[in-house]
Amino acid sequence: MPAEHILVLGGTSLARDLADALIGRGFQTTTSLAGVTRAPVLPQGCVRQGGFGGVDGLIRFLRQEEIAAIADATHPFAAQISAHASAAATATSVPYLRLEPPPWTAGSRDKWLSVTSVAAAAEALPCHARVLATIGRKEIGRLFARSDLTGIARMIEPPAGSLPESWKVLLSRPPFSVESETALFRVHDLTHVVAKNSGNQTGFAKFVAARELGLSVVLIDRPKKPDAPTAATVDDLLKLLYKALWA
Ligand code: NAP
Repeated sequence: MPAEHILVLGGTSLARDLADALIGRGFQTTTSLAGVTRAPVLPQGCVRQGGFGGVDGLIRFLRQEEIAAIADATHPFAAQISAHASAAATATSVPYLRLEPPPWTAGSRDKWLSVTSVAAAAEALPCHARVLATIGRKEIGRLFARSDLTGIARMIEPPAGSLPESWKVLLSRPPFSVESETALFRVHDLTHVVAKNSGNQTGFAKFVAARELGLSVVLIDRPKKPDAPTAATVDDLLKLLYKALWA
């Protein structure tokens, strides 16, 4: 059985699934979390929290912990840590692999507009839109700054700063069902969804509900991540890992 030490870059449910699968295959794992969520759901194996201190700090960590490979299962919008991990992997000749679901694509009945940033999403919304925003807390201020908008900002941790009277914060974790999303849209009489194109199945129900109710979706495209062997599922990532370590 393999006992190689794999660094899982986490902060997603896929990363937890991956760590569990690696442990099941006899690997040693350390899952790294940014440390921004107060009560994260933890995977099996070792867990460390907090930044590494840039590329150099990550290089030191890889050497100290004798990491055999990096499995980057961070959120598709966490661009900086992936860039750092790719650079540190190159510097240490450690394989760097990514686990990332493919982006969502619109069906013929969906009313989706793709934009490249949260700022562009804020600009794209029509006057007096009533919005479900699922973009996290870091950039939610860009929507709050539009005084004509109202809505629900759904996130895991509350945002910093004051909340405009016209918005409610809903602290909640996926998965959500089509039924609960439909009820949310109806109760608050919402007109738009603003979301990041994470591709995560646990977040897809809102698009099905939006389609059925005729709501418009403003979807933020993913930032560019470094080129790397990438798998969409845990099983495929394990195949890439075996190939990188032993082929
Ligand atoms: P980011 O902009 O890519 O990274 C900012 C800095 O945070 C990195 O340079 C690194 O600090 C530290 N960091 C980020 N992820 C880390 C990890 N897994 N382990 C150790 N350090 C980490 O990241 P972000 O967009 O703020 O996301 C932070 C975390 O939240 C990620 O782990 C991501 O998976 C999760 N998350 C992000 C989103 C999103 O929309 N961005 C959504 C859901 C979950 P150092 O340079 O000091 O190493």
